[in-house]
Amino acid sequence: MTSETHDYDAIVIGAGVIGTGVALELTRRGLRTLTVDKLPTAGYGSTSSSSAIVRFTYSTEAGVAMAYEGYRYWTDWKNHVGDIGDQEYAEFVEQPMVMPKTPNGHHVKFLPHWEKLGIPYEDLTFDEAEERLPFLDLRIFGPPAALDDVDNSFWGEPTAVHDGLILSPNSGYISDPQLSALNLATAAIAAGAEFRYNTTVAAIDRADGRVCGVTVDDGEQISAPIVVNVGGPYARRLNEMAGVLDSMARSSRALRREVYIYPAPDGVDYDADGVMIGDTDTGVYFRGERGNNVLVGNAEPDCDELEWVDNPDTNDDVLSEDGFQLHGLRTSRRIKGLPIPQRKSGLVSMYDATPDWLPIYDRTDLDGFYVAIGTSGNQFKNAAVAGHAMAELIVAVEAGHDHDDEPLVVTGKYTGLEIDLGTFTRNRVVPEDTHMNVFG
Ligand SMILES: Cc1cc2nc3c(=O)[nH]c(=O)nc-3n(C[C@H](O)[C@H](O)[C@H](O)COP(=O)(O)OP(=O)(O)OC[C@H]3O[C@@H](n4cnc5c(N)ncnc54)[C@H](O)[C@@H]3O)c2cc1C
Repeated sequence: MTSETHDYDAIVIGAGVIGTGVALELTRRGLRTLTVDKLPTAGYGSTSSSSAIVRFTYSTEAGVAMAYEGYRYWTDWKNHVGDIGDQEYAEFVEQPMVMPKTPNGHHVKFLPHWEKLGIPYEDLTFDEAEERLPFLDLRIFGPPAALDDVDNSFWGEPTAVHDGLILSPNSGYISDPQLSALNLATAAIAAGAEFRYNTTVAAIDRADGRVCGVTVDDGEQISAPIVVNVGGPYARRLNEMAGVLDSMARSSRALRREVYIYPAPDGVDYDADGVMIGDTDTGVYFRGERGNNVLVGNAEPDCDELEWVDNPDTNDDVLSEDGFQLHGLRTSRRIKGLPIPQRKSGLVSMYDATPDWLPIYDRTDLDGFYVAIGTSGNQFKNAAVAGHAMAELIVAVEAGHDHDDEPLVVTGKYTGLEIDLGTFTRNRVVPEDTHMNVFG
């Protein structure tokens, strides 16, 4: 598939964790790749703010299969990345993931897939969960409420308890998400890839009905028969530039997100004993954060307005006092005695989100132009396997495979699980009653 008439075989736009994953896999398949990023190094975009939780609690079979395969890359990270000289390797910190068995909660969606695919888990009763995790309050508080909705029962004394919880022992998080993108970029360079930083793609070029390269901010045209949009929160803008936005039934938009950090309660060693949680009952997710802290994000409950961002360059990056208070209070419903300090701590970033919270890993109607976008706050864990899936897809489509008519199914190289990429196409049909959020 190499092209002697072009500068490169493929250009990847974006050196986040997904873009570097794609660049590495394409390069390892023998393509001459160039990755372009407007920032100074790999992983400085939304990747650097990722909560980087590795879990398998997805509502689709392909989502679960991909996440489980993705987890195996993290546990074999050094081998996967290979020799990167003096650079440190990103570290996978093991921490179990729990999902309270909220009536009609998210566990109802993912458990059938776990059963089918053989994902290990424990089904704890209320008493077992209380004994194992005494710092958690497993009463039912939800549905979540806004801070000023003081009459809402969410802020009152609950009368019922959860039926127990589902515990996934193989989960965890990556302590330095930016480093993981840097690892992938360094591995790609070792395989022959090129990277250009501080360089903005200003136009996506086409000729004879297909993509033929990009024009960067100083006016230079760089040619390639394949261009991959991995622009994170800027992906929509890149799709507009390529003229493909209107031909996609699903696209993505930037969504402003905040993540907060609180100290663990007195007497709880959260680094050693903590769990991660996806909690539709309190409207938050959380995990441990080194130094005996708890990192908390929003789980998009109905009562919270979503802050869509039309221009990602002007995203308001000041952490809100209200958000810090609200998420601290919600989390303190679940973690007994969670302190909420006077001084707020956390970060502001953006998700590149789709309406159904599933990513788009696909070709487009412009031949040669591919997208790995809409990662919706939940695809960090899949960076390496997404790279594999995109590379398989690109190679197959360029060899003539009609992915639109017959969606490609790729096989995970660790688990052997089949990942149906039809789940992640731009024109997928989503059932009307699907109520989705960051849990995917
Ligand atoms: C707050 C937060 C929490 C998250 N938590 C989790 C989690 O717990 N678990 C999980 O699995 N996932 C999580 N995610 C999602 C995950 O982090 C993202 O899916 C992933 O990092 C996206 O990587 P990316 O490479 O697509 O995008 P990015 O890292 O944003 O990279 C895109 C790159 O494209 C570059 N770019 C854009 N436009 C141009 C242009 N015109 N020219 C040149 N360069 C350009 C940007 O500079 C940027 O570096 C979270 C995300 C956020 C923001």
